Amino acid sequence: MKRRVLVGVKRCIDYNVKIRVKPDNTGVLTQNVKFSMNPFDEIAVTEAVKMKKEGGFEEIVAVSVGPKECQETIRRALAMGADRGIHVETDEELQPIAVARIFKKLAEKEQPQVVVLGKQAIDDDANQTGQMLAGMMDWSQGTHAYRLKFAPEEVECTRETDTGLQTLKLKLPSVITCDLRLNEPIFAKLPEIMKAKSKPLQKFTPQELGVETATPVKVVKVTEPPKREAGKIVESVQELVAALKKEGAIQ
Ligand code: AMP
Repeated sequence: MKRRVLVGVKRCIDYNVKIRVKPDNTGVLTQNVKFSMNPFDEIAVTEAVKMKKEGGFEEIVAVSVGPKECQETIRRALAMGADRGIHVETDEELQPIAVARIFKKLAEKEQPQVVVLGKQAIDDDANQTGQMLAGMMDWSQGTHAYRLKFAPEEVECTRETDTGLQTLKLKLPSVITCDLRLNEPIFAKLPEIMKAKSKPLQKFTPQELGVETATPVKVVKVTEPPKREAGKIVESVQELVAALKKEGAIQ
């Protein structure tokens, strides 16, 4: 069996775009907005490429779940070095648990030794998919990966925690979620972008995979964060203390 890596690439609103909420508060405006690969997934693809170069892995399969435009995101992953793509097409906005169910089905089909995901998607900030997938598969998991070292049967995963770095030894198969400092994402050059156009890309719907996408979670309301008031410049510490007292911030 091929030593295979499955890597998740979510299409998200580009991190440079100023997000605007829909007037009816049901979500955010997506029309005429630039989308790109979730930045943590760029790190995940880059790590998968490194695993193939240095860690004895043979094939990288990039997976994206979402509308037809996700194929652009997959092509980008293919240009970065993934070997083939799988697009699970849906226009529904899926909750992380539904995405985890889809990855479970694909993991059963593709039999990867490792699934590499971002630590979170910058649109929903959920930080759930990897953990749910590891639970569903009963696989080991290394979240917020900072450094990875692969051996044939295991991976040494150093994680970023609030108090420092923690190193775990995980038996494969495993789910790894990538943090910011794991690597510098690959920048795909034109020849790779051209080559990526002819790499294989399979398409499924969640129904074809036999995955139930309904979940018991419903988004009730989306609102913008409260507007920050303009700051004031004070001339002295005394003036600062007086201003804070006036606003009731201190007594
Ligand atoms: P989340 O749990 O939504 O914060 O997402 C964590 C990670 O799961 C992302 O960085 C992706 O690697 C993966 N993921 C989540 N949703 C999708 C999706 N629709 N398509 C592909 N990968 C996804």
